[in-house]
Amino acid sequence: MSQSMRVCVIGAGPAGMSTLYHFAQLPKMPEVVCYEKQDTWGGLWNFTWRTGVDQYGEPCHSGMYKRLLTNAPKECLEFTDYTFKEHFGKDIGTSFPSREVVLDFMAGRWTNKAGRDLKRLINFSTVVRSVVYTEKTESFTVIVNDLKTGTISSEQFTHVVIAGGIFNQPNAPAFPGIENFDGRVVHSHDFKDGHEFKNQNVLLIGSSFSAEDIALHIMSSGGKSVIVSWQTNAPNHNWPNGITEKCSVRNFTGQTVQFTDGSSAAVDSIILCTGYKTLFPFLEGRLRIEEKTSFYQRQLYKGSLFIPLAQSKLFFIGAQEQLFTVTLIDCIAAWTARFIMGLLPNESKTTKEMQNYSDHWHGRAKQLKSIPEIVAFQASLIENLAGDTKYGMEYAQAAPLFVEWDKDRKAAIAHFRDHKFASFLSK
Ligand code: NAP
Repeated sequence: MSQSMRVCVIGAGPAGMSTLYHFAQLPKMPEVVCYEKQDTWGGLWNFTWRTGVDQYGEPCHSGMYKRLLTNAPKECLEFTDYTFKEHFGKDIGTSFPSREVVLDFMAGRWTNKAGRDLKRLINFSTVVRSVVYTEKTESFTVIVNDLKTGTISSEQFTHVVIAGGIFNQPNAPAFPGIENFDGRVVHSHDFKDGHEFKNQNVLLIGSSFSAEDIALHIMSSGGKSVIVSWQTNAPNHNWPNGITEKCSVRNFTGQTVQFTDGSSAAVDSIILCTGYKTLFPFLEGRLRIEEKTSFYQRQLYKGSLFIPLAQSKLFFIGAQEQLFTVTLIDCIAAWTARFIMGLLPNESKTTKEMQNYSDHWHGRAKQLKSIPEIVAFQASLIENLAGDTKYGMEYAQAAPLFVEWDKDRKAAIAHFRDHKFASFLSK
């Protein structure tokens, strides 16, 4: 280990915390400094009542809502070295716990299993303003802003790990006439509770996970009706009464939405469930990931190492679209910590070899069409990473659970959470 090695981790959500956790597991740990703009760890799992900006005037990071339950079984979210049963001392019953339970569980691993005080590595309420790389010194200049004191300082690092997440910068496309819509227009990032839409007819634009969840929340909170407008493929869900699917929005006139099939409807509010942008605005341009979203970013070797920066010093954790979420992220973090510390001797690849590897996975990712295909893809990526690190091979065993979960969702979207799965990690 080089004496001067200094690693900057940006973000203390699940991705950043997995990175700190895996550094802490190694026989020797470099100097690691983590910056987190929120006052606490947990990233998007923290709920805030605020929308728009936080108490410091910074964009609110988390799009968490009040009554969120996980949309994937918790048995797919637990760790080989820390399970829900171990954390709570018993089987907690449901497979789809609330956000509070998930955060408590994850914080339990970070506190009880890390072997050192990870909080001491984190500068809370500190936002990273800029990251610039200098070839000559082979180091990064990171400008950070302490939001409590207002202090701005410049730090030097040999390595940077970007773990800020990809679900915090809303993608908010415009639609003709929406600027004159006579009602509320909001992005799902700012959705807090279905009760806000009581007695309303609500249009959701987008038909993915946020739309599903929000449609159900609104109807169970006294909403009159919800229209889910899809763009590419109709979800064809077996919705409960009051929720219908429609094709794309063509335009708005007053409170009326016109769809591309020529039909129309009067609605009171619009929620853009149109996902997020993969943006890291604090990075100098040449260090940014080009692709908007992908199940495998072409520029990232092993889903982590930023290939265009030849010296192998910049890493992204959790920059992929997810199904396996925290377990895939954990495997990528384990690989990254070991790689940075030189513990993966077979990984001294040329840029061309790294790019060939990434092109292969990226090519496979582009072919994915269904949830079972995505599940199989991510399970094989986990196996590939675990083959290098000897960590996390078990996570691939979640694949059949995800396939089962997908069948449940197709059978009845309002009832898939009734299924209780068995843990393959705690018996
Ligand atoms: P997402 O999965 O990226 O989906 C974005 C949706 O917006 C897609 O349906 C997409 O349609 C649509 N869209 C994008 N641009 C559009 C446009 N110009 N016009 C019309 N539609 C457009 O985003 P998300 O649903 O917000 O989910 C983000 C993440 O949060 C996921 O990982 C999800 O699992 C997670 N989440 C979890 C929970 C939970 O745990 N309970 C709840 C909500 C979300 P196309 O696919 O046709 O492009």
